[in-house]
Amino acid sequence: MKIGLFFGSFNPVHTGHLIIAHHLATRTDLDKVWMVVSPHNPLKPKKTLAGDFDRLHLVRLGIGENPKIEASNVEFSLPKPSYTIDTLAVLKEKYPQHEFCLIVGGDNLATFHLWKNYEQILAQHDIYVYNRPGYDLGELATHPHVRICEAPLLDISATYIRQCIKDGHSIRYLVPDPVWEYLANSTLYRD
Ligand code: ATP
Repeated sequence: MKIGLFFGSFNPVHTGHLIIAHHLATRTDLDKVWMVVSPHNPLKPKKTLAGDFDRLHLVRLGIGENPKIEASNVEFSLPKPSYTIDTLAVLKEKYPQHEFCLIVGGDNLATFHLWKNYEQILAQHDIYVYNRPGYDLGELATHPHVRICEAPLLDISATYIRQCIKDGHSIRYLVPDPVWEYLANSTLYRD
Protein backbone atom coordinates (compact mmCIF):
# COMPACT_ATOMS: atom_id res chain seq x y z
CA MET A 1 0.00 0.00 0.00
CA LYS A 2 1.01 3.60 -0.54
CA ILE A 3 0.88 5.31 2.85
CA GLY A 4 1.04 9.08 3.39
CA LEU A 5 2.62 10.07 6.69
CA PHE A 6 1.21 13.20 8.27
CA PHE A 7 3.40 14.19 11.22
CA GLY A 8 2.34 16.53 13.98
CA SER A 9 2.21 17.16 17.66
CA PHE A 10 -1.61 17.24 17.39
CA ASN A 11 -1.83 19.16 20.65
CA PRO A 12 -4.77 18.67 20.26
CA VAL A 13 -5.87 17.33 16.89
CA HIS A 14 -8.41 19.62 15.21
CA THR A 15 -10.72 19.64 12.22
CA GLY A 16 -8.09 21.39 10.06
CA HIS A 17 -5.76 18.39 10.48
CA LEU A 18 -8.52 15.89 9.75
CA ILE A 19 -9.67 17.71 6.62
CA ILE A 20 -6.11 17.45 5.26
CA ALA A 21 -5.74 13.78 6.20
CA HIS A 22 -9.11 12.85 4.70
CA HIS A 23 -8.63 14.93 1.56
CA LEU A 24 -5.23 13.38 0.82
CA ALA A 25 -6.50 9.88 1.64
CA THR A 26 -9.47 10.16 -0.70
CA ARG A 27 -8.35 12.50 -3.47
CA THR A 28 -4.86 11.24 -4.32
CA ASP A 29 -3.39 7.84 -5.15
CA LEU A 30 -2.51 7.30 -1.47
CA ASP A 31 -4.18 4.19 -0.06
CA LYS A 32 -4.02 5.41 3.52
CA VAL A 33 -2.88 8.29 5.68
CA TRP A 34 -1.17 7.66 8.99
CA MET A 35 -1.25 10.54 11.45
CA VAL A 36 2.07 10.18 13.25
CA VAL A 37 1.99 11.71 16.73
CA SER A 38 5.34 13.29 17.61
CA PRO A 39 6.39 12.52 21.17
CA HIS A 40 7.48 15.10 23.64
CA ASN A 41 11.04 16.17 22.92
CA PRO A 42 12.84 16.21 26.31
CA LEU A 43 15.20 18.89 25.03
CA LYS A 44 12.28 21.25 24.53
CA PRO A 45 10.30 21.62 27.73
CA LYS A 46 6.82 22.72 26.75
CA LYS A 47 4.37 22.86 29.58
CA THR A 48 1.43 23.28 27.22
CA LEU A 49 2.13 19.94 25.52
CA ALA A 50 -0.31 17.23 26.66
CA GLY A 51 1.07 13.76 27.31
CA ASP A 52 1.96 11.56 24.35
CA PHE A 53 -0.79 9.03 25.04
CA ASP A 54 -3.43 11.71 25.64
CA ARG A 55 -2.66 13.23 22.23
CA LEU A 56 -2.65 9.81 20.57
CA HIS A 57 -6.02 9.00 22.15
CA LEU A 58 -7.46 12.29 20.92
CA VAL A 59 -6.21 11.60 17.38
CA ARG A 60 -7.92 8.19 17.48
CA LEU A 61 -11.13 9.76 18.78
CA GLY A 62 -10.94 12.43 16.10
CA ILE A 63 -10.50 9.93 13.27
CA GLY A 64 -13.31 7.68 14.46
CA GLU A 65 -14.24 4.86 12.09
CA ASN A 66 -12.33 5.55 8.91
CA PRO A 67 -10.58 2.73 7.04
CA LYS A 68 -8.35 5.24 5.22
CA ILE A 69 -6.85 7.04 8.23
CA GLU A 70 -4.94 5.69 11.22
CA ALA A 71 -3.07 7.13 14.18
CA SER A 72 0.54 6.02 14.62
CA ASN A 73 2.67 6.01 17.75
CA VAL A 74 5.77 4.72 15.95
CA GLU A 75 7.92 7.61 17.21
CA PHE A 76 7.13 7.00 20.89
CA SER A 77 9.73 4.27 21.13
CA LEU A 78 12.43 5.99 19.04
CA PRO A 79 15.32 8.05 20.45
CA LYS A 80 14.24 11.65 21.00
CA PRO A 81 14.21 14.01 19.28
CA SER A 82 13.08 11.89 16.36
CA TYR A 83 14.11 12.88 12.87
CA THR A 84 11.90 12.01 9.90
CA ILE A 85 14.72 10.19 8.13
CA ASP A 86 15.13 7.85 11.12
CA THR A 87 11.39 7.27 11.48
CA LEU A 88 11.21 6.41 7.78
CA ALA A 89 14.04 3.88 8.19
CA VAL A 90 12.19 2.18 11.07
CA LEU A 91 8.91 2.11 9.15
CA LYS A 92 10.55 0.66 6.04
CA GLU A 93 12.09 -2.11 8.09
CA LYS A 94 8.88 -2.83 9.98
CA TYR A 95 6.58 -2.67 6.95
CA PRO A 96 8.62 -3.64 3.89
CA GLN A 97 5.38 -4.24 1.97
CA HIS A 98 4.39 -0.54 2.10
CA GLU A 99 5.62 2.51 0.24
CA PHE A 100 5.87 5.55 2.50
CA CYS A 101 5.32 9.15 1.39
CA LEU A 102 5.26 12.39 3.35
CA ILE A 103 2.43 14.89 3.59
CA VAL A 104 3.62 18.40 4.38
CA GLY A 105 2.18 21.90 4.24
CA GLY A 106 3.65 24.44 1.85
CA ASP A 107 5.22 26.20 4.85
CA ASN A 108 7.27 23.07 5.53
CA LEU A 109 8.41 22.65 1.93
CA ALA A 110 10.03 26.09 1.93
CA THR A 111 12.26 25.01 4.84
CA PHE A 112 12.59 21.36 3.86
CA HIS A 113 16.26 21.82 2.94
CA LEU A 114 16.93 22.27 6.69
CA TRP A 115 15.66 18.77 7.56
CA LYS A 116 18.23 16.11 8.43
CA ASN A 117 19.27 14.24 5.22
CA TYR A 118 16.53 15.96 3.20
CA GLU A 119 18.13 14.97 -0.09
CA GLN A 120 17.95 11.30 0.84
CA ILE A 121 14.32 11.68 1.93
CA LEU A 122 13.45 13.33 -1.38
CA ALA A 123 15.36 10.78 -3.44
CA GLN A 124 13.48 7.87 -1.87
CA HIS A 125 10.01 9.23 -1.11
CA ASP A 126 7.23 11.20 -2.72
CA ILE A 127 6.28 14.36 -0.87
CA TYR A 128 2.67 15.47 -1.10
CA VAL A 129 2.49 19.18 -0.46
CA TYR A 130 -0.77 20.95 0.26
CA ASN A 131 -0.72 24.63 -0.36
CA ARG A 132 -0.99 27.05 2.51
CA PRO A 133 -1.68 30.66 1.59
CA GLY A 134 1.07 33.16 2.24
CA TYR A 135 3.93 30.70 1.83
CA ASP A 136 6.27 30.55 -1.12
CA LEU A 137 6.92 26.88 -1.85
CA GLY A 138 10.56 27.54 -2.73
CA GLU A 139 12.85 25.77 -5.16
CA LEU A 140 11.84 22.22 -4.26
CA ALA A 141 8.33 22.75 -5.70
CA THR A 142 9.53 21.49 -9.10
CA HIS A 143 11.38 18.43 -7.76
CA PRO A 144 10.12 15.27 -9.52
CA HIS A 145 9.16 13.68 -6.20
CA VAL A 146 7.18 16.68 -5.01
CA ARG A 147 3.45 16.70 -5.74
CA ILE A 148 1.51 19.84 -5.09
CA CYS A 149 -2.10 19.22 -4.01
CA GLU A 150 -4.90 21.68 -3.53
CA ALA A 151 -6.76 20.97 -0.31
CA PRO A 152 -9.46 22.89 1.56
CA LEU A 153 -7.95 24.70 4.51
CA LEU A 154 -9.46 25.73 7.79
CA ASP A 155 -7.81 28.72 9.38
CA ILE A 156 -7.39 27.28 12.87
CA SER A 157 -4.45 25.95 14.88
CA ALA A 158 -3.96 23.86 17.98
CA THR A 159 -2.65 27.00 19.68
CA TYR A 160 -6.02 28.65 19.06
CA ILE A 161 -7.91 25.62 20.41
CA ARG A 162 -5.77 25.59 23.58
CA GLN A 163 -6.39 29.31 24.05
CA CYS A 164 -10.15 28.82 23.67
CA ILE A 165 -10.13 26.09 26.32
CA LYS A 166 -8.04 28.21 28.66
CA ASP A 167 -10.39 31.16 28.21
CA GLY A 168 -13.46 28.99 28.77
CA HIS A 169 -14.72 29.30 25.18
CA SER A 170 -16.38 26.43 23.38
CA ILE A 171 -14.34 24.46 20.85
CA ARG A 172 -17.39 22.73 19.45
CA TYR A 173 -17.05 22.11 15.67
CA LEU A 174 -13.42 23.25 15.73
CA VAL A 175 -12.59 19.69 16.75
CA PRO A 176 -14.59 16.53 15.99
CA ASP A 177 -17.45 15.89 18.44
CA PRO A 178 -15.75 13.00 20.32
CA VAL A 179 -12.68 15.22 20.90
CA TRP A 180 -14.88 18.08 22.05
CA GLU A 181 -16.75 15.79 24.46
CA TYR A 182 -13.55 14.24 25.80
CA LEU A 183 -11.89 17.60 26.40
CA ALA A 184 -15.04 19.03 27.98
CA ASN A 185 -14.75 16.34 30.67
CA SER A 186 -10.99 16.57 31.11
CA THR A 187 -8.54 18.95 32.75
CA LEU A 188 -6.29 18.96 29.68
CA TYR A 189 -5.22 22.44 28.50
CA ARG A 190 -6.91 24.15 31.43
CA ASP A 191 -3.72 25.05 33.36
P1 ATP B 1 0.30 24.54 17.09
O1 ATP B 1 -0.69 25.66 16.95
O2 ATP B 1 0.38 23.95 18.47
O3 ATP B 1 1.67 24.88 16.53
P2 ATP B 1 -0.84 23.14 14.75
O4 ATP B 1 -2.32 23.28 14.74
O5 ATP B 1 -0.06 23.95 13.76
O6 ATP B 1 -0.27 23.31 16.22
P3 ATP B 1 0.67 20.66 14.43
O7 ATP B 1 0.49 19.48 15.28
O8 ATP B 1 1.93 21.41 14.50
O9 ATP B 1 -0.63 21.59 14.62
O10 ATP B 1 0.30 20.32 12.94
C1 ATP B 1 0.67 19.19 12.25
C2 ATP B 1 0.74 19.57 10.81
O11 ATP B 1 -0.53 20.10 10.38
C3 ATP B 1 1.76 20.66 10.53
O12 ATP B 1 2.46 20.30 9.36
C4 ATP B 1 0.93 21.91 10.33
O13 ATP B 1 1.54 22.78 9.39
C5 ATP B 1 -0.36 21.36 9.78
N1 ATP B 1 -1.54 22.16 10.12
C6 ATP B 1 -1.85 22.70 11.29
N2 ATP B 1 -3.02 23.36 11.25
C7 ATP B 1 -3.49 23.23 10.00
C8 ATP B 1 -4.67 23.69 9.31
N3 ATP B 1 -5.59 24.42 9.90
N4 ATP B 1 -4.80 23.34 8.02
C9 ATP B 1 -3.86 22.60 7.41
N5 ATP B 1 -2.73 22.15 8.00
C10 ATP B 1 -2.54 22.45 9.27
